[in-house]
Parts: sequence; C-alpha cells; structure tokens
Amino acid sequence: MAEFTMELNDEQKEVRDWLHGFAADVIRPAAAEWDEREETPWPVIQEAAKVGIYSLDFYAQQYFDPTGLGIPMAMEELFWGDAGIALSIVGTGLAAVGVLANGTEEQIGTWIPQMYGDANDVKVAAFCSSEPDAGSDVASMRTRAVYDEAKDEWVLNGTKTWATNGGIANVHVVVAVVDADLGSKGHASFIVPPGTPGLAQGQKFKKHGIRASHTAEVILDNVRVPGSCLLGGKEKLDERLARARERAKAGGERVKNAAMATFEASRPAVGAMAVGTARAAYEVALDYAKTREQFGRPIIDNQGVAFELADMRTQIDAARLLVWRASWMAVNGKPFTAAEGSMSKLFASETAKKVTGQAIQILGGNGYTREYPVERMHRDAAIYTIFEGTSEIQRLVIARTLAGVPIR
Ligand SMILES: Cc1cc2nc3c(=O)[nH]c(=O)nc-3n(C[C@H](O)[C@H](O)[C@H](O)COP(=O)(O)OP(=O)(O)OC[C@H]3O[C@@H](n4cnc5c(N)ncnc54)[C@H](O)[C@@H]3O)c2cc1C
Repeated sequence: MAEFTMELNDEQKEVRDWLHGFAADVIRPAAAEWDEREETPWPVIQEAAKVGIYSLDFYAQQYFDPTGLGIPMAMEELFWGDAGIALSIVGTGLAAVGVLANGTEEQIGTWIPQMYGDANDVKVAAFCSSEPDAGSDVASMRTRAVYDEAKDEWVLNGTKTWATNGGIANVHVVVAVVDADLGSKGHASFIVPPGTPGLAQGQKFKKHGIRASHTAEVILDNVRVPGSCLLGGKEKLDERLARARERAKAGGERVKNAAMATFEASRPAVGAMAVGTARAAYEVALDYAKTREQFGRPIIDNQGVAFELADMRTQIDAARLLVWRASWMAVNGKPFTAAEGSMSKLFASETAKKVTGQAIQILGGNGYTREYPVERMHRDAAIYTIFEGTSEIQRLVIARTLAGVPIR
C-alpha cells in the first residue's frame, strides 16, 4: 500500500519551480500587451518551445506522472502567469491528447510533431467539436463525415465554432457524425492535415477575456481527407459502431455514459487552470492589502479586508485539493462514483470567478483599471465556468451520478 502524502516529490518541486520561473519572467510580463492586441502570442510560444515547455515530450512527461499531479501542477503555474497566453501554449496539447487517446501509433507519430512544429518554426493545433447548435448538447452535432469507398477518403461538411486555434492551426482535429442514429457514440475524430482544401476560418471572436488565445469558427466545405486520417482506423470504427448498435438495441444509455466518463478524467486539468488564475489574483490582492494605507494603517488591518483574504485563500486551497484528488483518482483508475472530476472543475472555476472579483474590490479603484492585472484576471476567469462543460452541466453530471440515473 502506497504511503499517503500531500507533499510533492523533489522532481515535481523542481518542475514546478522551473515552470513558475517561466510564468513569472516570460508570461506575466507579456500578459497585458497580448490581452490588448487580442492576437496569438507567437513569440512567447516560441520561447516556451525553446526551453522545452511547448512540446509533446513535456506534456507527455506530466501526463504520465504516476501521482497524477504533473498536469494540474503544470496548468496551475502556467495559468498563474496569464490565462490567455497559457491557453495559447497548452491549446495544442488538448488537440494532441485527442490523437494520443484515439490514434494509432502511426497517426501519433505522423501528426503530433506537425501539431507543434519546431522551436524555430512553431505551429499550433485545434480541437473542433462544438458547433453553433451543439454546445452543451454534443450529441446534436451536425457536421457529417461520409466515407467515399472508391477513393478511400472521408468527406467532411459542417460548421464548427469556438475552436481554440481554429483556422490558424497547422493540424485540425475534427469530430464529426458518422452514424446519426447513435448519438455521441456515432461520432468519430478526423485529422485534417495542413493546407487541406475546403477548410477555412470563419469569424474570429472578440472576447471578454483570455484574449491572447485565438478562438474562431471553422468551416468545412467538402473537405476530403485520406482514409488514414480517421483516428483509430476504419476497422476499429466499424467494430465500435457495431457494438454501439447492439447496445442501443439492448437499452441504450450505457453507451452514452462511457463518453461522459472520458470527459470526467480531463476536467481536473481545467480546474487547475482556474486555481492558477485565482491564486494569481489572490497574491496581488494580498500584497496590495499589506501596502495600501488608508486611515493611517494598511487596509489589511481592517477585519473586513482580512476576512475576504482568508476566505479567498481557503477556497483556493480547497479547490486545489479537489483537483488533486480527482487527478490522483484518474491516474489510479479509481471510478468517479460521485463525479469527482466534475466536482473539481465546478468548484475551482466558480472559485476563480469569485476570488478574482474579490481581488478587484480589495484593490478599489486601481482594481478596476488596466494598470493592475486583477481586472484582466477577472475577465479571464469567466471562461472556466463555460468551456469544457459549463457549471450547470457539471452540476447535472454530479447530480445524475449521485442519483444513479443515466447522465443523458
Ligand atoms: C473561449 C472559448 C474557447 C473554446 N474552445 C473550444 C475548443 O477548442 N473546442 C471546442 O470544441 N469547443 C470550444 N469551446 C466551446 C465550449 O466548450 C462551449 O461554449 C460550451 O460547451 C458551452 O456550449 P454553448 O456555448 O453552446 O452554450 P449552451 O450549451 O448553449 O449553453 C447556454 C447556457 O445554457 C445552460 N444549459 C444548457 N443545457 C443545460 C441543461 N441541460 N441544464 C441546465 N443548463 C443548461 C448552459 O450551462 C449555459 O449557461 C470554447 C468556448 C469558448 C468560449
């Protein structure tokens, strides 16, 4: 039986401090500029590539950390630096995980290096699932993938939206419907290689926060990709569809729960991003409260301010513990019997929204200006309760799991 410890090991501490140094020295100083520019911070991504943070190797090392804490620790530090820039750095990793999870060894070897490029010519990748009429309700997706047997090609048609790095990515991973009768079990993922005709960027969104991260529509108009671009391959897809049809005939719902379980395992990573933003705002507020004087004493000497800080810190620590627990459970194959992955994402993202708002209040007028970072952090924090499943969807997953009823 492994000994229980709440301490990071020496190797983890070293990685955490290294990431923190990059976040403090490179990401944070660039944050305000890229937020104003609302553009992908290519020079910062390149810096990250040069030191080895923007690479599959780094991501994989954290992913395979046997304690499960590698990814949450990395996310917290990078997003502590700045959420928009950090999402530009880790967005490719989210698409790469889609390939790692479903692709063959050959697909992994071919496409993941093209997602990252190299330190002198960095590239990004996009994961395109959401659609204008299929956000929370993923099963109502309409983008179709039809197999052209004569040419061994798949033909993709539809409109994706909200894609991080959509249209500027070298490689797009696109989820599409191959069998409309099977709900989300009738979906499959496809690689769209660089320069494929028919894929175009639609509207680029002007956003409230995480403005350094590019978010856009992706239009697929008769996009033809080789059969080899179906992740996992045709044989595996046919087997999976046959099983799903059998199960659908036999009663249905178990099929959909399997997909929800996969999301459960990735949700703590988003919770960790939220912890990073919340901690950043809390630290600014704490420093400010110790140095800002009114009525002849630092404002932290007022219980009204000090108690706010006490609550902020307590909630951030509680959020991190939920994230770490879910990450540890995921890596150890413990079943999420109370939707602990969703719990961690729900609590951490709501905490980030709340704590960044409290930080603005503690900084008073300065908190409301762009001279201080908490205004940006508050705008950034609003994303966590929306993407990768809204707070309402997390509550729905937790509630249905507790009730023992099917999630959809
Ligand atoms: C900046 C940004 C980046 C993103 N990046 C990506 C990406 O890279 N790839 C990708 O595929 N997607 C991405 N998304 C999409 C994101 O995952 C969706 O926005 C999210 O899932 C919500 O979908 P929606 O916006 O259509 O909202 P809706 O699903 O329309 O929800 C609207 C409101 O209704 C509520 N609601 C819906 N159904 C229920 C219900 N059953 N019970 C209670 N309340 C409900 C929601 O909680 C929400 O408050 C991104 C979004 C943003 C904003």
